[in-house]
Amino acid sequence: MAKQMLLAGALVVFGAFLLFSVGLPTAGAVADPRVCLDPGHGGSAPGAVNGLLEEADINLDVAQALEFRLVHDASLAVVMTRTDDFTKSTRDRYEFCNSQNATLMVSIHTNSVADDSIDGTLAIYFHKDDRILAQELYDAMWAKLQPTAPDPLNFVPFGLKKDALGVVLKSEMPAAVAEPVFMSHPIEAERLGQTVSECSDNSNNLCRRAQIVEALYEGIINYLALPPGDEGGNGRGGGPPPGRGR
Ligand SMILES: [Zn+2]
Repeated sequence: MAKQMLLAGALVVFGAFLLFSVGLPTAGAVADPRVCLDPGHGGSAPGAVNGLLEEADINLDVAQALEFRLVHDASLAVVMTRTDDFTKSTRDRYEFCNSQNATLMVSIHTNSVADDSIDGTLAIYFHKDDRILAQELYDAMWAKLQPTAPDPLNFVPFGLKKDALGVVLKSEMPAAVAEPVFMSHPIEAERLGQTVSECSDNSNNLCRRAQIVEALYEGIINYLALPPGDEGGNGRGGGPPPGRGR
């Protein structure tokens, strides 16, 4: 009897330990991280257009599916600069993320260029601490989107680009612009034509928007798992907010 009680007691302690372990943040995790997603363009500014396909619609659909993943599968708080086909200025976007005290900001776009044979992935940063976020997003996008591209051997690793775009320049938290693929490429455009919900079966690897959602999800999760940054802007969140080198 005493032995059974001891065993039961040990199980309770072990169970409590498991519960406690699962509930603990992993090393380097930010307490209550808040993700600010910015679906690029919208309203009177559709962004790139290819036939019936408008960039603003793709960006919003991807952002909303990403929000759902982050909230339901990673229990993260997510705020969005727009939740419908609204017109937003660059200033509206960074001021909103700043007002929300977001941990990070990801501005979601879809690339386009006159030469429709070009396809590839790119991330844009400005500050040193943006670069770390941009790198995580880029690595995840490349890993997921290059092997599944219409023409993987010609899918260009554009890498990271430093650019003083308003959303990365003026945001007070690490921020990056994601340009996962080129909607000017005809086969990408065809695959991007299906919304995330229309394309629930990705077994044929053709659900481009869903692949982009997965890539950005992984990039954000990987970024949040990095060790905290220091005052010199090294590591996640490096640099003293909100000045961060400006
Ligand atoms: Zn854009």
